[in-house]
Amino acid sequence: MSLTLADARIVTSEGVHDGWLTIEDGRITHIGRGSAPRDGHSLGGRHVVPGFVDIHNHGGAGGSFPTGEQDRAREAVALHERHGTTTMIASLVTGTTDELAAAASSLAELCDEGLLAGVHFEGPYISKARCGAHNPALLREPTPQEFATLVEAGRGHVRMLTIAPELPGALDTIRAAVAQGVIAALGHSDATFEQTLEGVEAGASVATHLYNAMPALGHRAPGPVAALLEDERVTVELINDGVHVHPAMLRLAFDVAGPRRTALITDAMAATGMGDGTYVLGSMEVTVTDGVARLVEGGSIAGSTLTMDVAFRRAVREVGLSLPEAVQVASLTPARVLGLDGEVGSIAVGRFADLVVLDNSLEVAGVMKRGSWITEP
Ligand SMILES: [Zn+2]
Repeated sequence: MSLTLADARIVTSEGVHDGWLTIEDGRITHIGRGSAPRDGHSLGGRHVVPGFVDIHNHGGAGGSFPTGEQDRAREAVALHERHGTTTMIASLVTGTTDELAAAASSLAELCDEGLLAGVHFEGPYISKARCGAHNPALLREPTPQEFATLVEAGRGHVRMLTIAPELPGALDTIRAAVAQGVIAALGHSDATFEQTLEGVEAGASVATHLYNAMPALGHRAPGPVAALLEDERVTVELINDGVHVHPAMLRLAFDVAGPRRTALITDAMAATGMGDGTYVLGSMEVTVTDGVARLVEGGSIAGSTLTMDVAFRRAVREVGLSLPEAVQVASLTPARVLGLDGEVGSIAVGRFADLVVLDNSLEVAGVMKRGSWITEP
Protein backbone atom coordinates (compact mmCIF):
# COMPACT_ATOMS: atom_id res chain seq x y z
CA MET A 1 0.00 0.00 0.00
CA SER A 2 1.33 3.38 -1.03
CA LEU A 3 0.34 6.84 0.19
CA THR A 4 1.53 10.23 -1.06
CA LEU A 5 1.42 13.30 1.14
CA ALA A 6 1.39 16.41 -1.06
CA ASP A 7 1.58 20.19 -0.52
CA ALA A 8 3.76 19.76 2.55
CA ARG A 9 6.37 22.03 4.10
CA ILE A 10 8.92 19.37 4.94
CA VAL A 11 11.23 20.18 7.83
CA THR A 12 14.51 18.30 8.18
CA SER A 13 17.56 19.13 10.26
CA GLU A 14 19.07 20.67 7.09
CA GLY A 15 16.22 22.98 6.17
CA VAL A 16 12.61 23.51 5.13
CA HIS A 17 11.25 22.91 1.63
CA ASP A 18 7.87 22.65 -0.09
CA GLY A 19 7.23 19.24 -1.53
CA TRP A 20 5.76 15.79 -1.17
CA LEU A 21 6.63 12.35 0.10
CA THR A 22 5.54 8.81 -0.56
CA ILE A 23 5.09 6.10 2.06
CA GLU A 24 5.05 2.37 1.44
CA ASP A 25 4.88 -0.41 4.01
CA GLY A 26 5.39 2.03 6.85
CA ARG A 27 8.53 3.65 5.45
CA ILE A 28 9.32 6.79 3.46
CA THR A 29 10.22 5.73 -0.08
CA HIS A 30 10.37 9.01 -2.04
CA ILE A 31 10.76 12.68 -1.18
CA GLY A 32 10.38 15.40 -3.80
CA ARG A 33 10.24 19.16 -4.21
CA GLY A 34 7.33 21.12 -5.65
CA SER A 35 4.08 19.47 -6.67
CA ALA A 36 3.62 15.74 -6.34
CA PRO A 37 3.82 13.67 -9.56
CA ARG A 38 0.48 12.05 -8.72
CA ASP A 39 -2.56 12.72 -6.60
CA GLY A 40 -1.93 12.58 -2.93
CA HIS A 41 -3.35 13.55 0.42
CA SER A 42 -2.87 17.34 0.44
CA LEU A 43 -1.54 18.80 3.66
CA GLY A 44 -2.50 22.30 2.49
CA GLY A 45 0.98 23.74 2.94
CA ARG A 46 1.27 22.66 6.57
CA HIS A 47 4.59 21.69 8.14
CA VAL A 48 5.65 18.06 8.42
CA VAL A 49 8.30 17.23 11.01
CA PRO A 50 9.72 13.86 12.07
CA GLY A 51 7.86 12.17 14.94
CA PHE A 52 9.24 13.24 18.30
CA VAL A 53 11.55 10.99 20.32
CA ASP A 54 11.28 11.24 24.12
CA ILE A 55 14.08 9.62 26.11
CA HIS A 56 12.73 10.51 29.57
CA ASN A 57 9.05 9.92 30.30
CA HIS A 58 7.23 8.48 33.34
CA GLY A 59 3.70 8.27 31.92
CA GLY A 60 0.54 10.22 31.22
CA ALA A 61 -3.24 9.96 30.91
CA GLY A 62 -3.30 8.81 34.56
CA GLY A 63 -0.90 5.94 33.91
CA SER A 64 2.49 5.69 35.56
CA PHE A 65 5.23 3.49 34.05
CA PRO A 66 6.83 2.78 37.46
CA THR A 67 3.78 0.63 38.37
CA GLY A 68 4.48 -1.59 35.36
CA GLU A 69 0.72 -1.87 34.66
CA GLN A 70 0.46 -2.60 30.95
CA ASP A 71 -3.04 -1.24 30.27
CA ARG A 72 -2.23 2.08 31.93
CA ALA A 73 1.10 2.21 30.13
CA ARG A 74 -0.71 1.74 26.82
CA GLU A 75 -2.97 4.69 27.63
CA ALA A 76 0.07 6.81 28.49
CA VAL A 77 1.79 5.90 25.22
CA ALA A 78 -1.41 6.67 23.28
CA LEU A 79 -1.63 10.11 24.88
CA HIS A 80 1.95 10.96 23.97
CA GLU A 81 1.44 9.62 20.45
CA ARG A 82 -1.46 12.03 19.96
CA HIS A 83 0.98 14.78 20.91
CA GLY A 84 3.47 13.68 18.27
CA THR A 85 5.80 11.37 20.20
CA THR A 86 6.27 8.27 18.05
CA THR A 87 9.28 6.84 19.91
CA MET A 88 9.64 6.89 23.68
CA ILE A 89 11.23 5.02 26.52
CA ALA A 90 9.54 4.35 29.85
CA SER A 91 11.30 5.87 32.84
CA LEU A 92 11.04 4.16 36.22
CA VAL A 93 11.80 5.87 39.52
CA THR A 94 13.55 4.60 42.64
CA GLY A 95 12.01 1.43 44.07
CA THR A 96 13.06 -1.86 45.65
CA THR A 97 14.94 -4.34 43.47
CA ASP A 98 11.82 -6.51 43.25
CA GLU A 99 9.58 -3.58 42.26
CA LEU A 100 12.00 -2.37 39.60
CA ALA A 101 12.57 -5.84 38.17
CA ALA A 102 8.81 -6.52 38.02
CA ALA A 103 8.07 -3.22 36.28
CA ALA A 104 10.92 -3.69 33.81
CA SER A 105 9.84 -7.23 33.01
CA SER A 106 6.23 -6.13 32.44
CA LEU A 107 7.18 -3.13 30.26
CA ALA A 108 9.61 -5.28 28.27
CA GLU A 109 6.52 -6.93 26.75
CA LEU A 110 5.38 -3.53 25.45
CA CYS A 111 8.88 -3.05 24.03
CA ASP A 112 8.52 -6.40 22.24
CA GLU A 113 5.31 -5.05 20.70
CA GLY A 114 7.12 -1.91 19.48
CA LEU A 115 5.05 0.37 21.71
CA LEU A 116 8.04 1.43 23.81
CA ALA A 117 11.67 1.77 22.72
CA GLY A 118 13.10 0.69 26.05
CA VAL A 119 13.16 1.08 29.80
CA HIS A 120 15.07 3.72 31.79
CA PHE A 121 16.03 3.31 35.44
CA GLU A 122 16.11 6.80 36.95
CA GLY A 123 17.44 5.66 40.31
CA PRO A 124 17.92 4.04 42.78
CA TYR A 125 21.64 4.93 42.47
CA ILE A 126 21.24 8.65 42.99
CA SER A 127 22.26 11.23 45.58
CA LYS A 128 20.22 11.68 48.75
CA ALA A 129 21.03 15.38 48.57
CA ARG A 130 19.56 15.66 45.05
CA CYS A 131 16.86 13.01 45.03
CA GLY A 132 13.99 15.30 43.99
CA ALA A 133 10.83 13.23 43.82
CA HIS A 134 12.56 9.90 44.53
CA ASN A 135 11.91 8.09 47.81
CA PRO A 136 15.05 8.80 49.88
CA ALA A 137 14.50 5.68 52.02
CA LEU A 138 15.05 3.42 48.99
CA LEU A 139 18.22 5.05 47.58
CA ARG A 140 21.27 2.81 47.66
CA GLU A 141 24.82 2.49 46.50
CA PRO A 142 25.19 0.98 43.05
CA THR A 143 26.61 -2.45 42.50
CA PRO A 144 27.16 -4.00 39.08
CA GLN A 145 25.57 -7.18 40.53
CA GLU A 146 22.22 -5.59 41.43
CA PHE A 147 22.19 -3.70 38.17
CA ALA A 148 22.77 -6.92 36.24
CA THR A 149 19.62 -8.34 37.90
CA LEU A 150 17.63 -5.34 36.68
CA VAL A 151 19.03 -5.59 33.17
CA GLU A 152 18.13 -9.27 33.05
CA ALA A 153 14.55 -8.50 34.12
CA GLY A 154 14.26 -6.13 31.14
CA ARG A 155 15.18 -8.90 28.64
CA GLY A 156 17.33 -6.73 26.39
CA HIS A 157 15.13 -3.64 26.64
CA VAL A 158 16.93 -1.69 29.37
CA ARG A 159 18.24 1.34 27.50
CA MET A 160 19.28 3.86 30.12
CA LEU A 161 20.46 4.19 33.73
CA THR A 162 20.59 7.51 35.56
CA ILE A 163 23.35 7.44 38.17
CA ALA A 164 25.21 9.87 40.45
CA PRO A 165 28.92 9.39 39.65
CA GLU A 166 30.13 10.40 43.13
CA LEU A 167 28.55 7.38 44.85
CA PRO A 168 30.82 4.49 45.88
CA GLY A 169 30.66 1.84 43.16
CA ALA A 170 29.21 4.24 40.58
CA LEU A 171 32.12 4.21 38.15
CA ASP A 172 32.23 0.39 38.08
CA THR A 173 28.47 0.30 37.54
CA ILE A 174 28.71 2.85 34.70
CA ARG A 175 31.36 0.70 33.02
CA ALA A 176 29.24 -2.43 33.52
CA ALA A 177 26.12 -0.71 32.17
CA VAL A 178 27.88 0.53 29.04
CA ALA A 179 29.39 -2.93 28.49
CA GLN A 180 25.82 -4.31 28.51
CA GLY A 181 24.67 -1.77 25.92
CA VAL A 182 22.92 0.48 28.44
CA ILE A 183 23.33 4.26 28.14
CA ALA A 184 24.72 5.71 31.37
CA ALA A 185 23.24 9.12 32.20
CA LEU A 186 24.56 11.34 34.97
CA GLY A 187 22.04 13.10 37.15
CA HIS A 188 20.27 13.45 40.51
CA SER A 189 23.84 14.08 41.58
CA ASP A 190 25.77 16.23 44.03
CA ALA A 191 29.05 15.67 42.15
CA THR A 192 31.81 18.19 41.65
CA PHE A 193 33.08 19.16 38.20
CA GLU A 194 35.88 16.60 38.54
CA GLN A 195 33.65 13.77 39.78
CA THR A 196 31.31 14.41 36.88
CA LEU A 197 34.17 14.12 34.40
CA GLU A 198 35.16 10.80 36.02
CA GLY A 199 31.65 9.58 35.24
CA VAL A 200 32.04 10.63 31.61
CA GLU A 201 35.46 8.98 31.43
CA ALA A 202 33.82 5.77 32.71
CA GLY A 203 31.42 5.92 29.76
CA ALA A 204 28.45 8.12 30.70
CA SER A 205 27.10 9.98 27.67
CA VAL A 206 23.87 11.71 28.73
CA ALA A 207 23.01 14.38 31.30
CA THR A 208 19.68 13.60 32.96
CA HIS A 209 17.63 16.83 32.92
CA LEU A 210 20.57 19.22 32.96
CA TYR A 211 20.30 21.88 35.71
CA ASN A 212 17.54 20.05 37.62
CA ALA A 213 18.55 17.89 40.61
CA MET A 214 22.23 18.91 40.51
CA PRO A 215 24.33 21.78 41.96
CA ALA A 216 23.86 25.07 40.13
CA LEU A 217 26.51 26.54 37.85
CA GLY A 218 28.99 28.47 40.02
CA HIS A 219 31.94 30.52 38.87
CA ARG A 220 34.39 28.92 41.33
CA ALA A 221 32.56 25.60 41.61
CA PRO A 222 31.44 24.86 38.05
CA GLY A 223 29.93 21.53 39.13
CA PRO A 224 28.19 19.03 36.87
CA VAL A 225 26.51 21.63 34.66
CA ALA A 226 29.75 23.00 33.19
CA ALA A 227 31.32 19.54 32.92
CA LEU A 228 28.32 18.07 31.09
CA LEU A 229 27.81 21.05 28.82
CA GLU A 230 31.45 21.29 27.80
CA ASP A 231 32.16 17.64 27.11
CA GLU A 232 31.67 16.66 23.45
CA ARG A 233 30.80 13.08 24.51
CA VAL A 234 27.69 14.15 26.40
CA THR A 235 24.14 14.88 25.18
CA VAL A 236 22.19 17.06 27.60
CA GLU A 237 18.48 16.54 28.32
CA LEU A 238 16.44 19.68 28.89
CA ILE A 239 12.88 20.00 30.24
CA ASN A 240 11.41 22.87 28.26
CA ASP A 241 8.14 23.47 30.11
CA GLY A 242 8.78 27.00 31.35
CA VAL A 243 8.87 25.69 34.95
CA HIS A 244 11.96 23.49 35.29
CA VAL A 245 14.45 25.77 33.52
CA HIS A 246 14.41 29.48 32.65
CA PRO A 247 14.48 30.14 28.87
CA ALA A 248 17.76 32.05 29.26
CA MET A 249 19.42 28.96 30.76
CA LEU A 250 17.98 26.84 27.93
CA ARG A 251 19.55 29.25 25.42
CA LEU A 252 22.85 29.09 27.30
CA ALA A 253 22.85 25.28 27.20
CA PHE A 254 21.86 25.27 23.55
CA ASP A 255 24.58 27.79 22.63
CA VAL A 256 27.25 25.60 24.23
CA ALA A 257 26.02 22.09 23.37
CA GLY A 258 24.32 22.91 20.06
CA PRO A 259 21.55 20.89 18.41
CA ARG A 260 23.76 17.81 18.00
CA ARG A 261 24.13 17.41 21.80
CA THR A 262 20.80 18.72 23.07
CA ALA A 263 17.71 16.52 23.56
CA LEU A 264 14.35 17.87 24.63
CA ILE A 265 12.57 15.55 27.06
CA THR A 266 9.22 15.73 28.81
CA ASP A 267 9.94 13.97 32.14
CA ALA A 268 6.14 13.66 31.98
CA MET A 269 4.29 11.93 34.83
CA ALA A 270 0.81 10.42 35.20
CA ALA A 271 -1.03 13.77 35.37
CA THR A 272 0.02 14.66 31.83
CA GLY A 273 -3.11 15.14 29.75
CA MET A 274 -5.23 15.04 32.91
CA GLY A 275 -6.46 17.76 35.26
CA ASP A 276 -4.95 19.09 38.45
CA GLY A 277 -5.22 16.72 41.40
CA THR A 278 -3.37 14.10 43.42
CA TYR A 279 -1.24 11.44 41.73
CA VAL A 280 1.63 9.13 42.60
CA LEU A 281 5.13 8.92 41.16
CA GLY A 282 6.64 5.62 42.29
CA SER A 283 5.96 5.54 46.02
CA MET A 284 5.64 9.32 46.40
CA GLU A 285 2.43 11.37 46.53
CA VAL A 286 2.30 14.29 44.13
CA THR A 287 -0.09 17.24 43.86
CA VAL A 288 -0.60 18.91 40.51
CA THR A 289 -1.66 22.55 40.62
CA ASP A 290 -1.96 24.62 37.43
CA GLY A 291 -0.17 21.81 35.61
CA VAL A 292 2.89 21.89 37.91
CA ALA A 293 3.61 18.60 39.73
CA ARG A 294 5.09 18.83 43.23
CA LEU A 295 5.67 16.34 46.05
CA VAL A 296 3.00 16.63 48.73
CA GLU A 297 5.82 16.46 51.28
CA GLY A 298 8.57 19.03 50.79
CA GLY A 299 7.24 20.51 47.55
CA SER A 300 10.02 19.31 45.20
CA ILE A 301 9.08 19.47 41.51
CA ALA A 302 7.99 15.91 40.64
CA GLY A 303 8.25 15.48 36.90
CA SER A 304 6.19 17.52 34.50
CA THR A 305 2.89 17.52 32.63
CA LEU A 306 4.70 18.40 29.43
CA THR A 307 4.20 16.82 26.01
CA MET A 308 6.80 16.95 23.23
CA ASP A 309 4.66 19.14 20.93
CA VAL A 310 4.59 21.83 23.60
CA ALA A 311 8.34 21.45 24.21
CA PHE A 312 8.92 21.77 20.45
CA ARG A 313 6.73 24.87 20.13
CA ARG A 314 8.37 26.51 23.13
CA ALA A 315 11.82 25.74 21.67
CA VAL A 316 10.89 27.83 18.62
CA ARG A 317 8.89 30.57 20.38
CA GLU A 318 10.58 31.00 23.76
CA VAL A 319 14.09 29.73 23.15
CA GLY A 320 14.44 31.04 19.60
CA LEU A 321 15.45 27.87 17.75
CA SER A 322 14.88 27.60 14.00
CA LEU A 323 12.52 24.83 12.82
CA PRO A 324 15.44 22.64 11.62
CA GLU A 325 17.18 23.09 14.99
CA ALA A 326 13.95 22.29 16.85
CA VAL A 327 13.56 19.11 14.76
CA GLN A 328 17.07 18.12 15.70
CA VAL A 329 16.59 18.54 19.47
CA ALA A 330 13.10 16.96 19.52
CA SER A 331 13.70 14.05 17.14
CA LEU A 332 17.10 13.42 15.59
CA THR A 333 19.42 13.90 18.56
CA PRO A 334 17.34 11.80 20.98
CA ALA A 335 17.04 9.13 18.26
CA ARG A 336 20.83 9.14 17.96
CA VAL A 337 21.18 8.79 21.74
CA LEU A 338 19.12 5.60 21.51
CA GLY A 339 21.09 4.40 18.49
CA LEU A 340 17.86 4.47 16.47
CA ASP A 341 18.70 7.33 14.08
CA GLY A 342 18.91 4.90 11.16
CA GLU A 343 15.19 4.17 11.66
CA VAL A 344 13.55 7.22 13.24
CA GLY A 345 14.20 10.87 14.05
CA SER A 346 14.34 12.33 10.55
CA ILE A 347 12.39 12.62 7.32
CA ALA A 348 14.53 10.69 4.86
CA VAL A 349 14.10 7.87 2.37
CA GLY A 350 14.24 4.51 4.15
CA ARG A 351 13.22 5.86 7.56
CA PHE A 352 9.97 4.84 9.24
CA ALA A 353 7.08 7.12 8.28
CA ASP A 354 6.81 8.61 11.77
CA LEU A 355 5.53 12.11 11.05
CA VAL A 356 3.85 15.05 12.76
CA VAL A 357 1.79 17.55 10.77
CA LEU A 358 1.84 20.99 12.40
CA ASP A 359 -0.41 23.92 11.54
CA ASN A 360 0.85 27.49 11.23
CA SER A 361 0.74 28.03 14.98
CA LEU A 362 2.78 24.79 15.37
CA GLU A 363 -0.15 22.93 16.95
CA VAL A 364 -0.42 19.22 16.10
CA ALA A 365 -2.81 18.69 13.17
CA GLY A 366 -1.97 15.03 12.52
CA VAL A 367 0.32 12.23 13.63
CA MET A 368 1.49 9.21 11.66
CA LYS A 369 3.36 6.24 13.14
CA ARG A 370 4.92 3.58 10.90
CA GLY A 371 2.80 4.81 7.99
CA SER A 372 -0.55 4.70 9.82
CA TRP A 373 -2.40 7.75 11.03
CA ILE A 374 -2.78 8.05 14.80
CA THR A 375 -4.77 11.22 14.06
CA GLU A 376 -5.46 12.12 10.46
CA PRO A 377 -5.06 15.77 9.50
ZN1 LIG B 1 12.35 11.83 35.55
